[in-house]
Amino acid sequence: MVRDGRRLVSFSCNDYLNLSQHPDIKAAAIRATEQYGAGSGASRLVTGNHPLYGELESKLADLKGTEDACVFGSGYLANTGIIPALTGKEDMVAVDELSHACIFAGASLTNGAVHVFRHNDTDHLRKILEEHRTSYPRALIVTDGVFSMDGDLAPMEELGQIAEEFDSWLMTDDAHGIGVVGGGRGSGFTGSGAKANVPLQMGTLSKAIGGYGGYLCASKPVIDLIRTRSRTLIYSTGLPPGVVAAASAAIDLIRSDPGYAALPLAKARVFTEALGLAEAQSPIVPVVLGGTKETLEASSLLQDEGFLVVAIRPPTVPDGTARLRFTFTAAHEDADIARLADIVKTRILEKP
Ligand SMILES: *Cc1c(COP(=O)(O)O)cnc(C)c1O
Repeated sequence: MVRDGRRLVSFSCNDYLNLSQHPDIKAAAIRATEQYGAGSGASRLVTGNHPLYGELESKLADLKGTEDACVFGSGYLANTGIIPALTGKEDMVAVDELSHACIFAGASLTNGAVHVFRHNDTDHLRKILEEHRTSYPRALIVTDGVFSMDGDLAPMEELGQIAEEFDSWLMTDDAHGIGVVGGGRGSGFTGSGAKANVPLQMGTLSKAIGGYGGYLCASKPVIDLIRTRSRTLIYSTGLPPGVVAAASAAIDLIRSDPGYAALPLAKARVFTEALGLAEAQSPIVPVVLGGTKETLEASSLLQDEGFLVVAIRPPTVPDGTARLRFTFTAAHEDADIARLADIVKTRILEKP
């Protein structure tokens, strides 16, 4: 990464597998652009659809173990399209408090009840459902699969059981899970390795997949409904063919090389071990410093040492929890990680 004319090693990118730079993926994007053009020209429901879409959607469904999939313009467009298509003003949505901003945006578009449960607190979720579930015809539970600012995982199997018990839908946002946890298949495949009972698996193509776009993997009836009811899909232009082709090539690569998909998490664990932190569960490792000022100072110290580590501050995270958020990618050198960990330890955490 180049900032102010200086080359820095970035520990702030979501391009976990460095696929945005992969020669095969760039070549797939170039081929599709040459063949079909730079843009799609219209909404998918008008003339913007393309056989490349069908190919990508079946690869996504196969990766996630669902019947079908639907690709959106972005992850943000997916959440703000899916949630109000499935639940309305007479229904309820239950959301983990640390979920991504676009889940809350989607929930507010339902004009229905939104209940927020404490982070990963399944007892709290259960209490909310015991109290309120029967007041609504439909309920949807939504959570990040891998939490974007904390790097921890949602308790997927338990959430699946609760959803079943309370006749509710469960949707996970796997923006930071696809390609990097569960053998590349995402947060629904961690734990025992078997597929957790998550009927709605949403995510983005703009992080580990290396390109741009969003998706929902679900049953065929749900996807049919989404394709005809989701306003952010219907009323927004289809993705450029090159972007769709790149995502398709990226999924092929992840499927053919699970060892490569395991690298970002392994690199994150080198870092957490060097610092004596709890073992990383994903390629995201937060070091919470608390105050905004000290976090900005720490980020600037790291920049002077040649590392780009962006300070994450409120309102992106709760007050008093400003942090350095480190993200690890397949291409990071172990020597860089060791030097970074040493500086964080001696000059930030154990600052004299
Ligand atoms: C990045 C992110 C999104 C948004 O995805 P885009 O494709 O960038 O719009 C949604 N949810 C989570 C958890 C994210 O981290």
